Amino acid sequence: MRQAALIAFFFVLAVSSANADTIVLKNGRRIVASNVVEDGDRITYETAAGQMSIPKSIVARIDHDNFSYSSAETKVFAPPVSAPPIDPVRGYDEVARLTVHDNSIDFGYIAELENNARSGGAAAIEKVAATHYAAAQFLVSKGDTDAAIDHYRQALSFAPDNLGLLLNLAVLYLRGNQFTTALDTLEHARRVMPDSSPAAPDIAKLMGWAYYGANKMERAVDQWKLAQRLRPDQEVESALEKAERDKAEEESYREGETVHFALKYNGSATPDLARGILHTLEEDFRDLESQLDFSPPEQIGVILYTEQSFADITRAPSWAGAINDGRIRIPVQGLTSVTPELGRVLKHELTHSFVGQKSHGRAPTWLQEGVAQYMEGRRSASVGALLDQANQGLVPTLGALEGSWMGLSGSSASMAYAWSLAVVESIVQSGGMSDISRLLDRVGSAASTEDAVRDTLHSDYSDLQQQTIAYLRRQDVR
Ligand SMILES: [Zn+2]
Repeated sequence: MRQAALIAFFFVLAVSSANADTIVLKNGRRIVASNVVEDGDRITYETAAGQMSIPKSIVARIDHDNFSYSSAETKVFAPPVSAPPIDPVRGYDEVARLTVHDNSIDFGYIAELENNARSGGAAAIEKVAATHYAAAQFLVSKGDTDAAIDHYRQALSFAPDNLGLLLNLAVLYLRGNQFTTALDTLEHARRVMPDSSPAAPDIAKLMGWAYYGANKMERAVDQWKLAQRLRPDQEVESALEKAERDKAEEESYREGETVHFALKYNGSATPDLARGILHTLEEDFRDLESQLDFSPPEQIGVILYTEQSFADITRAPSWAGAINDGRIRIPVQGLTSVTPELGRVLKHELTHSFVGQKSHGRAPTWLQEGVAQYMEGRRSASVGALLDQANQGLVPTLGALEGSWMGLSGSSASMAYAWSLAVVESIVQSGGMSDISRLLDRVGSAASTEDAVRDTLHSDYSDLQQQTIAYLRRQDVR
């Protein structure tokens, strides 16, 4: 979204996050904001453009979510739970020490244990589970989720019913938005574990997240209710509340579906519009798939809201328009077909889904918004003015644009969008879209975005600033 710098998350990575609230207006419009406070006969709230206030008389209610924005503004689908640790086998510490040493994985040692397990008994198999578990933990700490998944799967080929392995693997699938794959793993775990086992509430909780991510609200609600019956939990309670709200709101909605999208809309949107949107999104999907060399593994949920005027979803001053919180939520009041403007919003929001998933939720805000604007077809305007500001040292550093833009004033937010777009344009101009693609992959596993920039573009942040200034100079036709 634009001027918005606002992305709500449905999963929480707990550290450094602020709660997001939803202000529901009497006309049905929803504003997702932080620091929502009643102040006399007005409601004040924080936005990318600074503090705003509206009369209390137009507000229907305020939903306080325990779901948070991460300050990194990434779309992280990490569930707010981690898997219970694997039952430590006797000598686990020793196995772990021999598996990971000198900051790397000893594959020779793993192979040796696997050989022993092929001829040995239960103890040898437990050791294989332990060695892969240690390797996977190490890889997760390095941000290499895909390789960690491989280790769990290899371990499961020896110990298919090992609960710790199954749950840890499911958590990684959830983080990678592979909700149906996560469900397979969790169903296996449930077959192994009866409802009376101590792990049963954890399994139900994780299944709730998987269904929620897969847009199956009803099943998510069922699982979380089960989890609450087995072992009440504050996180599940707030997740359940939100899912029930979504479910109630969407009950009267109609549905449309294509290969990559599941669309919901209510009766006042026309089926023609819904079809048009799905058609546009499928085309955008194919384009982004080839440009970014990535394909999101699961259907993406899209919800059309009709209670909000179309003007709200696009440009300032209305900052909270379309939202991508894992599902793409778009207000389409009064529209009967996909206008060019709506087309841009769809592409922009869909790009956020691609960028978020390709980078495992770790793309910084400047890269997210820069690429989303680029893909929607926006190019640097008033290059001269931007260049003047850059020459006077008035543009923000990329480091300062990595985290949340929520606190930025209106003019700073405009600058942040404009500068991020210019940086992305300069990267594309010098190395093509494949540089962006490689950068996004690297961001997913590098220690920092600047490290990823160094690895893939062979420059650091200050080189990138200089490159962008040089790019703008070439565009400047004054
Ligand atoms: Zn955006």
